[in-house]
Amino acid sequence: MSAACVYLVGAGPGDPGLLTLRAKELLEAADCVVYDYLASDACMRFANPKAEQIFVGKKGFSAHVTQDEINACLVEVAKRYEDGKVVRLKGGDPYVFGRGGEEALVLAAEGIPFEVVPGVTAAVAACAYAGIPVTHRTVSSSVALVTGHETPDKDAPVIDWNHLAQGVDTLCFYMGIRDLPQIVERLVAGGRSPETPVALVRWGTRPEQETLTATLATVVEEVEKANFQAPAIIVVGDVVGLRNSLQWFENRPLFGKRFVVTRTREQASSLVGALESLGANVVEFPTIEVVPRSLNEEIAAKLAALSEYDWVVFTSANGVEASFNLLNEAGLDARAFATCKIASIGPATTNTLRAHGLVADLVPPRYVAESVAEALLEAGVAQGSKLCILRASAARDVLPELLEEAGATVDVVHVYDTVAPQESEQAAEVIQLLRNGAIDAVTFSASSTVRNFFKLVEGELAEGETVLALMQDVAAISIGTITSNTIKDLGLEVAAEADPFTIPGLVQAALDYFGRA
Ligand code: SAH
Repeated sequence: MSAACVYLVGAGPGDPGLLTLRAKELLEAADCVVYDYLASDACMRFANPKAEQIFVGKKGFSAHVTQDEINACLVEVAKRYEDGKVVRLKGGDPYVFGRGGEEALVLAAEGIPFEVVPGVTAAVAACAYAGIPVTHRTVSSSVALVTGHETPDKDAPVIDWNHLAQGVDTLCFYMGIRDLPQIVERLVAGGRSPETPVALVRWGTRPEQETLTATLATVVEEVEKANFQAPAIIVVGDVVGLRNSLQWFENRPLFGKRFVVTRTREQASSLVGALESLGANVVEFPTIEVVPRSLNEEIAAKLAALSEYDWVVFTSANGVEASFNLLNEAGLDARAFATCKIASIGPATTNTLRAHGLVADLVPPRYVAESVAEALLEAGVAQGSKLCILRASAARDVLPELLEEAGATVDVVHVYDTVAPQESEQAAEVIQLLRNGAIDAVTFSASSTVRNFFKLVEGELAEGETVLALMQDVAAISIGTITSNTIKDLGLEVAAEADPFTIPGLVQAALDYFGRA
């Protein structure tokens, strides 16, 4: 019987951007992923959704699952997925204090094929993200990676503390918080100056990163005072001093702020990406789902007759995508719009049109329905004009009404529906974060996201709780006036409003708000 190849893969320190290309490729192709506590959720997002996922989490010193059990598990899945791929995903690098060597030895002994994919190890990455280069030409010529937690079954220290204290410039300790007092004592006893700078970096490279700086003389007291917890890297050496000049990650304008983003999963990515690159910790909470309509006779007839309209109007990027899917189903393409002019409500819609080969003839100055109507009237829409609006079923009637008032004939074709998700995996998580006061802002990019946010959160409330009370210290950030009105109607204050009414406008509003705060 053949066995699956087991890939011992380093997941890096937490920032999913630090996953290697090889790691991502293997995660996507895996039949089974065996992962632990430090392999971040953000990296597990890349795992093949069909893969079996086995959590063998080990947190700190309380081993939920013993190493022998993990070894046995790897052998068992390798045999079960014969000819398949098993990914053993480990935080950082698998061979740096990851017990990857032990697992590889077991696989080798069993004759199970394996490969190793190195990862970015925590010490190097956490220091870099804290503004500390582990070597520097004029400050440090050597670096040591040291366990701060020597195997407890050894009586005497196996680390040569005297040589370590004096012979290496930069010392990075893994798993060292609990034994910090002994580490400091041994380094000082070994001849390291008590004035040597020390930094602790917790959850390095993640949005939750925290850094504490001190000296060997003060660090034990400082750590106790701050109740600084694992997992953290302890770095000792003069390079810590460079942090004053080289700090960057924690300086980003939204660092330390946790945002809830309420868009659909498909649409959240540009907003999430923009907020994350500014340092925010983003929780995705999709409150609307876009359900494209499928082709029926009525829609097919409208699409076949598009050439009869003077104008076709798109009011969302979703509407563009849904319309092109329907055209495709009907055996048509962009040439169906050849003789009509095209109006687009704003930049995202315009870009989506362009991706389908259409250039909008009209984009209004303000990205709301009223402004689309005004611009169309200015462009000559009048008595006798024929317009077709391709949009969601649930939308305000103001656009067709204003056009009809001017004497135009308007056909509204519903190309998709927006619905509230039936249930939300994230609702419980978001409520818990709200209770803990751990959310700084919620972004709303449409009125429906506001209403559905309330509905989903209400579904999870405990007795006596209200959405308004939970949201009291949370900034509601709105994409525009219509959304803001819905926020206010539901009793919340609007902390900031986008101008222009676009996703980049929303991001800028968040930046301005927290810049002021
Ligand atoms: N194989 C891993 C290390 C596993 S040992 C690697 O190469 O990075 C676990 C220890 O790694 C933790 O106790 C902590 O000291 C350190 N660690 C892991 N991820 C970390 C992170 N994101 N920030 C700071 N320290 C981290």
